[in-house]
Amino acid sequence: MKTIGVLTSGGDAPGMNAAIRAVVRTAIYNKVRVLGIKRGFNGLIRGEIEEMDVASVGEIIHRGGTILHTARCEEFKTEEGLKKAYNIIKIFGIDGIIVIGGDGSFRGARDLSKFGVPVVGIPGTIDNDIACTDFTIGFDTAVNTVLDALNKIRDTVTSHERVNIIEVMGRNAGDIALYAGLSGGAEDIIVPEIPFNVDNVCRILIEGKNRGKVSYILIVAEGTKNSFQLAKEVEEKTGLEVRVTVLGHIQRGGSPTAADRILASRMGAHAVKLLLSGKSNRVVAIRGSQIVDYDIDEALSMKKEFDHEMYELAKILSI
Ligand code: ADP
Repeated sequence: MKTIGVLTSGGDAPGMNAAIRAVVRTAIYNKVRVLGIKRGFNGLIRGEIEEMDVASVGEIIHRGGTILHTARCEEFKTEEGLKKAYNIIKIFGIDGIIVIGGDGSFRGARDLSKFGVPVVGIPGTIDNDIACTDFTIGFDTAVNTVLDALNKIRDTVTSHERVNIIEVMGRNAGDIALYAGLSGGAEDIIVPEIPFNVDNVCRILIEGKNRGKVSYILIVAEGTKNSFQLAKEVEEKTGLEVRVTVLGHIQRGGSPTAADRILASRMGAHAVKLLLSGKSNRVVAIRGSQIVDYDIDEALSMKKEFDHEMYELAKILSI
């Protein structure tokens, strides 16, 4: 293994830069050349590739986003697109590719591996929706961003004795909602993994009001119910004043937390070590405190488990 390519793909996540830095520096430390591929699989198909050195990843560990940029690439899902990418890989003499992204990106990497290109995936997404790993890079930062917003919203909600519905990201996963909801003491957490009914939510709010509660935060994960529709129904059924805050892309940005920087550094170094030891078609993961890896097909076939115990705890603690 003389030359490794690295790219970021799909939705960006804070800590991707720390992962790139770890890949580049671990490789160079081991006397392996690193090529940075810009704009995900798009840049691979188009040969948007530059050599990276130790200095090119300086001053980025604390920065959100990704210096390699990221993109979605429909062409890469076609045989023709894959062939173009494979040709570029041969032209540039790339011996293995590290893909930092979500499960869509790992599917792309898996397709590329069928051409005999060794690939390793690093889970980078704020959604924490990758089944083989306890945590993905960017999740902790996103949860802290939501928590910061929740604390601020709590101030105004309490002053006005209102309800605020905070809509958070997560695609089809409720982890951001669950972790931010538990740590922020949300009155209720609505996630795609748990069926919910509006009357139950209203009952929680009315019971709280009867006990003298003056502020109510409901966290709703995107992919559940339209927050504005929910607000309307809750307002009609409880008589409480309801406001909606959709946090949106603010959750994707910001300086990564220490936890994300450490996770990214460990995962990036592990990915390089896998390629150098001849292991390929793997996805890096963290289980407990251990960095581990899985076969990419196995990783893609695993089903993400929702933490029901934590969800129940959040319910109990918000009574
Ligand atoms: P994420 O990696 O964050 O899940 P996407 O699902 O958008 O993001 O995937 C990123 C890119 O990975 C896509 O634009 C596409 O190039 C590639 N990709 C996604 N799904 C597949 C698939 N089923 N087969 C091949 N490539 C895919």
